[in-house]
Amino acid sequence: MKTYHDWEKKAAELSIQNQAFINGKYVNSLSGKTFVNINPATAQKINDVTECGKEDVDVAVKVARDTFESGVWSNMHPALRGKHLMRLGDLILQHKDELALLETMDMGKPISDAMAVDIPACARTLHWYGEAADKLMDEIAPTDPSALALVTREALGVIGIVVPWNFPLMMACWKLGPSLAVGNSVVVKPAEQSPLSILRLAELASEAGIPDGVLNVLPGFGETAGQALGLHMDVDMIAFTGSTEVGKYFMQYSGKSNLKRVSLECGGKSPHVVMKDCPDLDKAASAAIGGIFFNQGEVCTAGSRLLIDRAIKDEFMEKLMKAADNYKVGDPLDPDTTMGSLVEEQHMNRVLGFIDKANEEGATLKVGGCRSAGRDGFFVDPTIFDDVMPDMTIAKEEIFGPVLSVLTFDGEQEAITLANDTIYGLAAGVWSKDISQAHRMARAIRAGTVWVNCWDPTGDMTVPFGGFKQSGFGRDKSIHALEKYTDLKTTWVQL
Ligand code: NAP
Ligand code: MG
Repeated sequence: MKTYHDWEKKAAELSIQNQAFINGKYVNSLSGKTFVNINPATAQKINDVTECGKEDVDVAVKVARDTFESGVWSNMHPALRGKHLMRLGDLILQHKDELALLETMDMGKPISDAMAVDIPACARTLHWYGEAADKLMDEIAPTDPSALALVTREALGVIGIVVPWNFPLMMACWKLGPSLAVGNSVVVKPAEQSPLSILRLAELASEAGIPDGVLNVLPGFGETAGQALGLHMDVDMIAFTGSTEVGKYFMQYSGKSNLKRVSLECGGKSPHVVMKDCPDLDKAASAAIGGIFFNQGEVCTAGSRLLIDRAIKDEFMEKLMKAADNYKVGDPLDPDTTMGSLVEEQHMNRVLGFIDKANEEGATLKVGGCRSAGRDGFFVDPTIFDDVMPDMTIAKEEIFGPVLSVLTFDGEQEAITLANDTIYGLAAGVWSKDISQAHRMARAIRAGTVWVNCWDPTGDMTVPFGGFKQSGFGRDKSIHALEKYTDLKTTWVQL
């Protein structure tokens, strides 16, 4: 295993991209403007990255459209498209250290998480959709025998992919895998805080034999490049992951332009419910802690509301506080670090603002509650608030940081009511030995995923991922994700 020193040395030797990737080449933005990219763990500049605007979006979309129309990718034998995607999956694994380092330096997550979770998940996604590419069958409808009606799925054309900074490469791969498998061309706008890994991936895609112009990457800002993609008349679909607020903008952009399809993976305020017959309190406590503190709490599915039955509250809190010791802020390049820095200063201040608000509103601070001492970067200590009431700000709003709100309930009905008391519906967890109760609750809780007696255990590719309510619509992962990147066509032949 690599040591802290090994990673530091590797980081110093890394060659880091800073240009956009259009039509198979790295290029500067047309304006020549750049923006400063920071390592949030050190607060030091990494590099200046080219800043793409509307005019670059126009160029990249034209390239993507021409490539799509040329058929070089869209009409390639699906099995061959699949091979290229699988080769890209292989290349991700071959460059695992480098990609993990880029992720860690760009957004502050522990290198051990980037190595164990992010990069393997990216490779797995490309392998999975590469394998699926030639396994998709179309239909013949059961019409009157005098006709032959074919129901086929066709690629949409040009997909705009707009992603956040918490799992920069993984969120992009969840969209690249299925959209490319069916033959689309794409233009990716990474988050301004984390452009580096996807810029490197674009080059690896070329090496994997994906033709020039199929995968284009435009670093830049949401309000300019992101908006231009959303409003573009020749983009067929936006696949978005990010906040609910910005998700709503993309719906408006669609309505104001060409009615492009929109899929939205947005925010969450997921309830993690521990019933009094929980089969294993130690396991549940450690899952509750991992569910909020993994990735610094910068996780859309973070179990940020822990709901505990009053009958086991005291016993469970004790175990919870013990489990919290597993998460300690440290240098993300140290392989022993379990919690890195938040993505940027502004976000850290936002998280600290929620902590202030919780104190003002009368929640009880059990641990943490402040910026981590003695560090230049943007670290916040793992924080737990007890006695949180449903109408408090920290029970309602997505904090997207290492802050857990503990609420108490009496029995199944109140647990369900509290669990559903949110505008979001991304994920939920229920701990109960009673199989009937667990199923009743899984049915009653409005969320895209309900975990029973676990919390997000594997990230398995075979199941769909996405939200109910204002957590968005459209699903990533699984065979279902392929549907949203295609449209149905009926070809009716009168015999
Ligand atoms: P964000 O502010 O919504 O940004 C997401 C992306 O949208 C970024 O690329 C951003 O560009 C762009 N953007 C921002 N404003 C825009 C505008 N006016 N028009 C067009 N594009 C715009 O989200 P974030 O802060 O990066 O990420 C955190 C959020 O993502 C949380 O709410 C989290 O729950 C959500 N998330 C959801 C999932 C899921 O699968 N459901 C997964 C991960 C994260 P800039 O970087 O330039 O602002
Ligand atoms: Mg950065």
